[in-house]
Amino acid sequence: MTMTSSNGMTANGGSTNSTAIKGTPTNGLHPTLLSLSDPLTTPESNGKGTAPVGTPVAQPDDAQMREAVRTLLLGVGEDPEREGLQRTPKRVVDAMRFLTGGYHQSLDELVNGAIFDEGHNELVLVRDIGFFSLCEHHMLPFMGRAHVGYIPNQKVVGLSKLARIVEMYARRLQVQERLTRQIAEAIQEILEPRGVAVVMEATHMCMVMRGVQKPGSWTVTSSMVGAFEEQTTREEFFNLIRHQPAFF
Ligand SMILES: [Zn+2]
Repeated sequence: MTMTSSNGMTANGGSTNSTAIKGTPTNGLHPTLLSLSDPLTTPESNGKGTAPVGTPVAQPDDAQMREAVRTLLLGVGEDPEREGLQRTPKRVVDAMRFLTGGYHQSLDELVNGAIFDEGHNELVLVRDIGFFSLCEHHMLPFMGRAHVGYIPNQKVVGLSKLARIVEMYARRLQVQERLTRQIAEAIQEILEPRGVAVVMEATHMCMVMRGVQKPGSWTVTSSMVGAFEEQTTREEFFNLIRHQPAFF
């Protein structure tokens, strides 16, 4: 059974759920409590790992991809031979490979054994993890911040790994709701914690740059698992990500 409360959160027995709340930016989310300022710029793809579900068997090679970009340029009325555009197909293909590098990573390789039995059972929260992704409907960027928390059941994972997990799923063609859920499910899978909470705030270029556009609009999604399905725990989490740390 799914329940929706007045703030748009949903809960359904035991499984992850996510919900989108569209509106103005949430106040007070800019400072960091546990800041990972390292922007998501490190290529992690090593050519191994799992292929995306639904990948065609025969993938086009780079030359075919460059040709497709050239066709796009022609389609928008450009001259692919003019100087500024001659290397654009290669640059676009290279950029797309980088921005979708998460397809070639796997959770196991990424975590790489960095799970520790600390006997720690209190909330671990990493706020303000910057991320960049591409919406699967328009292949345009959406970007923002992720807040990832979990209540361990003895096992904890290296803090930087939480940011790496966000990055791995963000570097795929996504919708924000699924991205949020996949991060929560990944943490559930590797740690089997008592609860996982993921909140993502993002602005979508396909909303901001095109037509009915609402510059400054933000989409907030959340995925709550286990203990965070309880109202009080969930509220505590939301209070923590709204709190403005005073140390800088
Ligand atoms: Zn879109």
